[in-house]
Amino acid sequence: MNKRKREYLSLLEYIDIGILVIDYKDRLTMSNELGKDFFDFDNEWKNQDYQNYIYNLDVRKLIEQVKLTKEDKKKQIVLKVDTVQKIVEVSAIYIPIDSKRYLIMLMLRDLTAQKEVEKKQLDFVGNLSHEIKTPITAITGFSETLLDGALNDKEVSKQFIEIIHDESTKLSNLVDDMITISRLNEHENLNIELVNIFKLVKDTLQLFSHEIEKKRLNVRIEIDEELSLYCDKLKLKHIITNLIQNAIRYNLENGEIKIKVQNDKKNEWVFVISDTGIGISDEDKERIFERFYRVDKSHSKAVGGTGLGLAVVKESVDALSGRIKVKSQINKGTTFYVILPRFKAR
Ligand code: ADP
Repeated sequence: MNKRKREYLSLLEYIDIGILVIDYKDRLTMSNELGKDFFDFDNEWKNQDYQNYIYNLDVRKLIEQVKLTKEDKKKQIVLKVDTVQKIVEVSAIYIPIDSKRYLIMLMLRDLTAQKEVEKKQLDFVGNLSHEIKTPITAITGFSETLLDGALNDKEVSKQFIEIIHDESTKLSNLVDDMITISRLNEHENLNIELVNIFKLVKDTLQLFSHEIEKKRLNVRIEIDEELSLYCDKLKLKHIITNLIQNAIRYNLENGEIKIKVQNDKKNEWVFVISDTGIGISDEDKERIFERFYRVDKSHSKAVGGTGLGLAVVKESVDALSGRIKVKSQINKGTTFYVILPRFKAR
């Protein structure tokens, strides 16, 4: 009997649901630690009237309803725990003992984290629909105008078709970033291989050579050509591509980009990229890694941004168990530090 009792009690402590039992005289007879935390119990709680400890009116009402109807009830309740508002699913269960006596068992499940995830997903879909809607409206509008007769004016139609082209490129970039983000979340295993960092940087810069020339940027790579490190090449590529793209986008004409690797720590190495661009304020630094966050929406849109680039970077860095830091001064420039663990050969 004793062994079984111990088993029950430890089960109650390990379960991540708060459990309280109230008897037919409204006395608190049992609680696990989590249950006590929900209502901030002191050491005197045992056999005390539950109303001395449970102040939340919704929970009280639920208990009284179950006493009255003798039927189980469940409700989502906003509960203040240690000054923090939590969303808690409270189930009240009626357990008859004999014709007069009964117990009420309360089970409390904290749904706050789950609700936050749900809210983020909803926000994400909302933002995404907005981002998609804008270019589609432009494409539809301008193509309709063309069909309605603007085609006859060669100068105007060229202008409109250029807009349609730009907007569809934006849509296409957005979809590419979305695909990258959804793949990143698949939690697939890392694919660790030896990567020549210099070559990866060089190849990435090649992709943007047109933009670099157009802005007459001076790019300096301070990486040993022979430097190879073990890493997940695809994730590293996402990181490097997006950071280089931003260093170009948010740079000024004749600006500079410096890319280097700090390779002196035993367990880590650091990819560093600096630019002499518009910079990021302290306030915005906190938020730039959020999906769809852009400091200056009109500027970012004009340079073709989707607001997803740094989210891809952050999620890739997380997947590699790394960290990312940013130092920046408005109108002086920005430096991103990507600190990555040294992986070993498989
Ligand atoms: P976007 O596709 O708009 O560039 P990102 O997620 O890559 O989106 O970046 C988010 C925002 O952070 C950008 O809109 C820009 O305002 C700011 N930002 C990112 N990189 C830099 C940088 N190197 N210099 C200045 N601002 C930057």
